[in-house]
Amino acid sequence: MSEESIKVAVRVRPFNQREKDRNAKLIIKMHGQSTFITDPRSSEEEPKQFSFDYSYWSHDGFIELPSGILESKDNSSAYASQQKVFNDLGRDVIKNAFDGFNCSLFAYGQTGSGKSYSMVGYGVNRGIIPIACDELFHQIQSTKSSSVRYEVSLSMMEIYNEQVRDLLTQDFPKGGLPVRQHPTSGNFYPQGLRIVPVGNYTDIERRISEGTQNRTIAATNMNATSSRAHTVVTIYFDQFINGTHGETKKTSAINLVDLAGKERFQLDLSFDYVLLFQGSERAASTGATGDRLKESTNINKSLSTLGNVISALADISSGSKRKVVVPYRDSTLTKLLQNALGGNSKTVMIAALSPADVNYDETLSTLRFADRVKRIKNTVVVNEN
Ligand code: ADP
Ligand code: MG
Repeated sequence: MSEESIKVAVRVRPFNQREKDRNAKLIIKMHGQSTFITDPRSSEEEPKQFSFDYSYWSHDGFIELPSGILESKDNSSAYASQQKVFNDLGRDVIKNAFDGFNCSLFAYGQTGSGKSYSMVGYGVNRGIIPIACDELFHQIQSTKSSSVRYEVSLSMMEIYNEQVRDLLTQDFPKGGLPVRQHPTSGNFYPQGLRIVPVGNYTDIERRISEGTQNRTIAATNMNATSSRAHTVVTIYFDQFINGTHGETKKTSAINLVDLAGKERFQLDLSFDYVLLFQGSERAASTGATGDRLKESTNINKSLSTLGNVISALADISSGSKRKVVVPYRDSTLTKLLQNALGGNSKTVMIAALSPADVNYDETLSTLRFADRVKRIKNTVVVNEN
């Protein structure tokens, strides 16, 4: 049993076309492990500084800096390709899985900041999930021996409106799958979630694309393309090892989480406040009514509870004398991620950042969130029997 901090990486995406057209200003700088953010509204103020395990800059070729500042020439926080991000973060995930640890990798950040790009990727720019799955089977092949048998299986779900939907089936029971608590381990799990065996990388790819097709895309007036659901892919990796004292089993569950985008003004607020806010301006400006309003409130419920869980855990790790209750039970997302956050899992988070001045508030709040996450200590044990 050992205590381990959650590893945190920040990754800046390039300016998009709209930002370029509007001559958006760059507000992020990186230097080594330090990330700086400048408030575009106050030129006097010193940039705020953060420090993370990894900080990734975007491709030089993508970033066209206004006013000739070329921060990206700073090669100490160099451009990070998908492969580099995988080498830094994904390789350890696979190694830890072979060692019998639970692992979690999640991406956090506002809509359009690059979460899906990092996790899944687009086209030939494969993200961590496909590269890691590929690598898992490569390593199984290369370590194959008569004394070890491997079993790999997969589940894929989305948390949408606080309900769990199994993405590997088209039949969605009304109200979603019930979330139950295991009587001995205390872990929460969605009852009846399909776990399908996969024999190679192509199987995984097929399952994930099947799941992706089943995803709910609920567009709002404001954000026509962003998905409003959290997606969780779990890979179950079991090793049966034949030794002199019979067979032992090592298991690992790898959680790969792509969170729904938090949207303007909705983070760092308590649930009550969000509700209040939702009920007034927010609802009016997005044109949300009825179901849609309930939906965005519930998305906030999972995200704001996540924020509260992280704050409570960060307090505990910093040795707070107050009695801190971690409110895992307040949302579906945090119930299901209980191990990943403060529990039995080696966890990595990628905080996805926009480079543009218009996103200052959201980017700062993402950096603050990431700063709290890196203080959290998980208690990890090898799953072996
Ligand atoms: P999110 O999942 O956070 O809503 P996406 O991952 O879909 O955001 O990213 C938004 C857009 O930015 C996509 O078109 C994506 O291809 C692009 N993008 C994001 N991160 C990067 C990156 N590191 N390099 C190049 N393009 C990126
Ligand atoms: Mg996305």
